[in-house]
Amino acid sequence: MIDNASLMIGIAFSCASLMVALVIGWIAARRETYLVLGALGMALAVAGLVIMSFRGSTYDSVFQIIPFSLLETGIGFIYAGSRLFNNRQANLVAPVALTLAFVVLTALPLALGFSGVGTIMLNISAAILLGLCAGEYWRTRHELRVVMLTNVVLYSVSGLSFLACALVLLFQQQWVLDAPPQNLAESINSIAVLVGVTGIGATTLTLHYARAASFHRNAANTDDLTGVLNRRALFSEYREDDLVPGLAVLMFDLDHFKQINDHFGHARGDQVLQEFADVLRAHLRATDIITRLGGEEFCAVMPGVDRDTARAIAERIRLAFAEKAFLIDTSAVATVSIGLAIGEDSETFASVLSRADDALYKAKKAGRNQVALAKVRLVA
Ligand code: GH3
Ligand code: MG
Ligand code: MG
Repeated sequence: MIDNASLMIGIAFSCASLMVALVIGWIAARRETYLVLGALGMALAVAGLVIMSFRGSTYDSVFQIIPFSLLETGIGFIYAGSRLFNNRQANLVAPVALTLAFVVLTALPLALGFSGVGTIMLNISAAILLGLCAGEYWRTRHELRVVMLTNVVLYSVSGLSFLACALVLLFQQQWVLDAPPQNLAESINSIAVLVGVTGIGATTLTLHYARAASFHRNAANTDDLTGVLNRRALFSEYREDDLVPGLAVLMFDLDHFKQINDHFGHARGDQVLQEFADVLRAHLRATDIITRLGGEEFCAVMPGVDRDTARAIAERIRLAFAEKAFLIDTSAVATVSIGLAIGEDSETFASVLSRADDALYKAKKAGRNQVALAKVRLVA
């Protein structure tokens, strides 16, 4: 059997390695502040553990205040980090207030000589903070489910093992300790934390790099100006020769856009493009694909929408855009012409796109600011 003091050294080394890995992750992605908080948390925990490992078999009540405060603050930082992981704008009042309260509630009995009560408080604080960390990852469980749930389990098990330590001391009514507590719960706790730190290290870094990859994927598929998808994203979703019976495709081209640029400047033109993208987002569902094909040409692909509904949606978009009245003066209104095609049996995506484009041309020729329906496909 390995004694608890050796396990504690093991945990300290594990925390120190994780700290280095988190710092390296942060150097590569400076905006991910949660990595810094995690690393600081690990540093404080290491400091606490090192100090504790020097105490030997004595248990000077006042002396424990230092390592216990370091440990609680360390776990508090980890909790703050998991909140930021969940939401970059997260409010950190709760982690700060809770950590401060725990530090005081633990130091107080220790200062008064109740080393057992202080130890119980340390264990309860750790259990609550780790439970809150588990809660944060539970809330983001939809992202990389298996990894997130592993994180939830690791934090929960570590938290519960601290709770068990507190309960043992409570039941034994150990208000004053003259040596570090030695019981089954303590041994299980050391092992759970050792496994927890190592496992959480692996899951945190996996999550971090998966997020970075998805960020770059999104950036490559998004149109910078309007935030809708770009042509490349559309053609990675639908290949030209994919058969798309029933798929509704809308093609948009803003009317006399060159004049808007000429009259009001390119910057205002850019704004109009953004406003049009907003109109599209407001009228289409999350499952529809909105893309800017280039210039002032957009395309929307709506699966599972019949012709009449698609036409009604197109009309609403047309009216909403015209009504938004992107007027700089009353003489100029930005409008849009729209071509609509619905995929026929055994028709390819390229063919539907081309028919929607022809319909758009028809709408332009008929006077702009209108929706035109594509002709049925001529099958040889
Ligand atoms: P029509 O009604 O026939 O569509 O006329 P139009 O002026 O919209 O058509 P045309 O294709 O001649 O002009 C498109 C203009 O869109 C020309 C180009 O300067 C402008 N444009 C293309 N990309 C951008 C962009 O990113 N920002 C801005 N502000 N203008 C752009
Ligand atoms: Mg055009
Ligand atoms: Mg145009």
